[in-house]
Amino acid sequence: PGPAGRPDVLVVGGGIGGLSCAYALARRGSRIRVLERAREFGEVGAGLQIAPNCTRVLAEYGLLDEARALGVVPRDMVMRDALDGRVLTRLDLRDLERRYGHPYMVIHRTDLQGIFLRACERAGVELLTDRTVVGYENAEDGARVVLADGRVETAPLVVAADGLHSVARRLLVGDDVVSSDYVAYRAAVPIERVRGNDIAEKDVTVYVGPRCHFVQYALRGGEVFNQVAVFESPGALAGEADWGTPEELDAAFAGTCDTVRQGIPLMWRDRRWQMLDRDPIDTWVHGRVVLLGDAAHPPLQYMAQGAIMAIEDGWVLAAHLARQVGTATPDASPDWDAALAAYEAVRVEHCRRVQTTARAWGELWHLDGTPRLQRNALLRARDVHDYSFTDWVYGPTALTPDELPPMFAPIPLSSAVVEDAEAVPRS
Ligand code: FAD
Repeated sequence: PGPAGRPDVLVVGGGIGGLSCAYALARRGSRIRVLERAREFGEVGAGLQIAPNCTRVLAEYGLLDEARALGVVPRDMVMRDALDGRVLTRLDLRDLERRYGHPYMVIHRTDLQGIFLRACERAGVELLTDRTVVGYENAEDGARVVLADGRVETAPLVVAADGLHSVARRLLVGDDVVSSDYVAYRAAVPIERVRGNDIAEKDVTVYVGPRCHFVQYALRGGEVFNQVAVFESPGALAGEADWGTPEELDAAFAGTCDTVRQGIPLMWRDRRWQMLDRDPIDTWVHGRVVLLGDAAHPPLQYMAQGAIMAIEDGWVLAAHLARQVGTATPDASPDWDAALAAYEAVRVEHCRRVQTTARAWGELWHLDGTPRLQRNALLRARDVHDYSFTDWVYGPTALTPDELPPMFAPIPLSSAVVEDAEAVPRS
């Protein structure tokens, strides 16, 4: 950093969103300081699916080969009914890669975060741990953050990438998280432990069932098997404080097909993730403090786009800052406010669609009774190579509102179909 060690940008939070943003800005020449609350940088959890709208960005950063070496490029994404196990529909991921120009991959969260951490180190990002930010203020020439120990840091721009329970979001927006009453259990086990089970090692498989679903795929070159079990918690519906217990997990999957039930005993039982999101908001920019990643748009994870949106955010912000260099001042500093306005103008709308579509996807996945059978019939009729549901999300990341796919009038069939009706091809 330059005079008095002041960086150009302070990034609060060193998760995948914060680190990828730090790298995106540093590779274009900005001086970046990351402030992370934890004692070390690390991720909790197991696998992440990263679709072409993410691997495209990794390719531009020169990080895709490393991701390929650490992850897996699966063959198909297969959706099955969790009760009878039958195939409902699938995505041919080789064909998908041809269409979008970049692979659909799965990778361990720790590995993806490690890729960004090393990239940040190479790009000279200052990476500081044990720094808890408790306050944000705008200042004449930027913004300042207040740390828990009373220290103050300033910069022309502060990026708040402090996650679902963001302090910045609480102070600047003041809304609450929204509980879906669903909970996730995760597991990553050596592949040998599931070899006797009826698994498809080369695919991402999603079993959708009444009030539950189950995801399986191999990670780390196929050596590790990742599973996610998600269900609606009766305890949450009853208003209990301690909801989503392991007993509820067993009960939720008791009626599912053999393959799903074989997987349940392998789930980690000492940790669970209550599925929370927030309602979309229109304003992410507050003076020189800007929200990014889950702090701005935490989704339910049904579209597997949360981390991806965070990565796209940093890419878009960095591109707009680069465009604004020297436009407001004769020196090399960007027109920060113009870049922030451009970032907000395009990202808010895209992320709103992902958040609302993810909620609708969840409803569709978890149907029971006749609606379940109707869904199954519709999904079985889908052409495997119909990409009208994925173009708007897996296609190139928009830099301006003009590049966003157009909105079509919703078809009034069901809430799920209404949201999906937005999913139209770009051309
Ligand atoms: P976080 O990862 O929450 O990082 C926030 C960071 O800020 C943390 O390091 C935290 O310690 C730090 N911090 C917090 N408060 C402070 C403070 N006051 N001061 C300083 N530092 C602070 N996404 C996908 O793209 N694909 C998937 O397949 C996928 N699957 C998922 C499955 C499940 C079960 C879940 C729960 C989520 C899934 N997601 C997926 C979503 C994804 O995990 C998140 O959207 C993503 O990790 C958000 O990244 P982030 O950096 O914005 O926030």
